[in-house]
Amino acid sequence: MNGRRVLIIGGGISGLSTAYYLGKHGIPSILLEKSGRLGGLIRTDVVEGCQLEAGPDSYIATKPAVTELADELPALAGQVIGSNDRGRRIFIVRNSRLIPMPEGMSMMVPGRMLAALRSPLIGYQTKLRFLTEIRMRPRKRRSDVSISEFIGDHFGHEAVRYLTEPLLSGVFGGDSARLSARSVLPRFLQYEEKMGSLIRGVRAEGRSGGAKTSLFRSFRGGMQALTDALADVIQSNTRILFKEASQVRREENGWGVQVDGEWITGSHLVLACPAYVSAGLLAGVAPALCSELDVIPYSSAMLVSLLYRKADLNGDLRGFGFLVPRDERRTIAAATWIHRKFPSRVQPGFAAVRAFVVDPEATALVAASANEVTGLARGDLARLATFSADPMAIRFYAWPRSMPQYLVGHGQRVARIQALTAQQNGLYLVSNAFEGIGIPDCVRLGKETAKKIAAPNG
Ligand SMILES: Cc1cc2nc3c(=O)[nH]c(=O)nc-3n(C[C@H](O)[C@H](O)[C@H](O)COP(=O)(O)OP(=O)(O)OC[C@H]3O[C@@H](n4cnc5c(N)ncnc54)[C@H](O)[C@@H]3O)c2cc1C
Repeated sequence: MNGRRVLIIGGGISGLSTAYYLGKHGIPSILLEKSGRLGGLIRTDVVEGCQLEAGPDSYIATKPAVTELADELPALAGQVIGSNDRGRRIFIVRNSRLIPMPEGMSMMVPGRMLAALRSPLIGYQTKLRFLTEIRMRPRKRRSDVSISEFIGDHFGHEAVRYLTEPLLSGVFGGDSARLSARSVLPRFLQYEEKMGSLIRGVRAEGRSGGAKTSLFRSFRGGMQALTDALADVIQSNTRILFKEASQVRREENGWGVQVDGEWITGSHLVLACPAYVSAGLLAGVAPALCSELDVIPYSSAMLVSLLYRKADLNGDLRGFGFLVPRDERRTIAAATWIHRKFPSRVQPGFAAVRAFVVDPEATALVAASANEVTGLARGDLARLATFSADPMAIRFYAWPRSMPQYLVGHGQRVARIQALTAQQNGLYLVSNAFEGIGIPDCVRLGKETAKKIAAPNG
């Protein structure tokens, strides 16, 4: 690929996978990462031989991009592990008690009617809604609606409070009254359009085979094994500079990036950083695009990981962990029992817990010390899971403005962003801010972007 040299800003999974797939097309790149380490939000710490994830702990197997990438990376051969789905029970807090989610749920949609009807988590009115929802007629909505409204239309308010909101807080740190049904739950929108009933849609998934393997996957060495493997393999094709990009500009034959006062040039520019960072970089070049990117809100997250000797454990540690609906919440929104979800991550004789703090609590606690947040998280674990043992190690991670929020109308905003980006010859945006919040979406976007750049008119 003569004359092509791609500048990539951001060394998280989005930037690394873009560099990797560019390399497969024979296109060299320069990757800029400001933090001094590659991987972005993906980081695995090893404490007493146990893996504690600082950010994501797994990826969803139903989206194939990470699985396909891992199959190509020699360092990851035989390294993929699945979550222990035999123990995959999730509990929801109601009236300060842990109540299991009904079996067979696909997010907030019941796949097994009998289990849903027997569940003590929800009342008879919601159960009646489940029974009548099956008869709903197909419907095409003219405009995007919030997830609360969408799920409320199908199952009522209680299903929003005790099933939808806690699930979305755990994944997006988001508010279901503001998040977009079309962008966050596109599969369920399709079921509504084709079949009317979400329950029938979920049941049809089950009949068509669905995934028989683990729903969540990771790597023997932890999630960082993925970014380490990529960082290693891209070296032959990519110059990595641990520097911050402070500005970008158009050049006669491509793009320039300012680093430490100097300009580095390339034929193409890929922004693989949060949307608000891209907005700042593009302010002087593409003001309309900058404005659209700047208004994508981000929420913050904090994680407290606690490592215990099993012998010291007490409390209620069934299933994978629990979710806390907003009305029941003091500090944590969710907790995962790491040794139950991924047993191989924790050495025999140890147990590990990871507690999530999301917005609005994460932003409210931004000035609090690690000790203070850890104390609050432990207080919640004691209150909700009667879990009060003394940990032998604690790790605290704060991720301010880390989770983009796909608000109502997000799809239209993304369409405008794509149209405005297309006007900037040689400019590409990859990150989790547009078409999917998870790691598989970032990898897919990196792969598609590399393909576009490699195309004759790219
Ligand atoms: C707490 C938490 C838990 C999560 N759990 C999961 C999970 O279990 N499964 C899942 O699939 N997803 C999960 N996610 C989402 C997932 O982590 C992200 O989608 C993904 O890691 C985003 O990768 P990225 O490369 O787009 O961004 P990032 O990882 O944020 O990388 C962006 C990089 O750009 C760099 N950068 C920024 N500005 C500049 C600049 N000016 N110059 C140079 N470099 C710059 C940053 O330092 C950073 O390294 C989670 C997210 C959070 C916050």
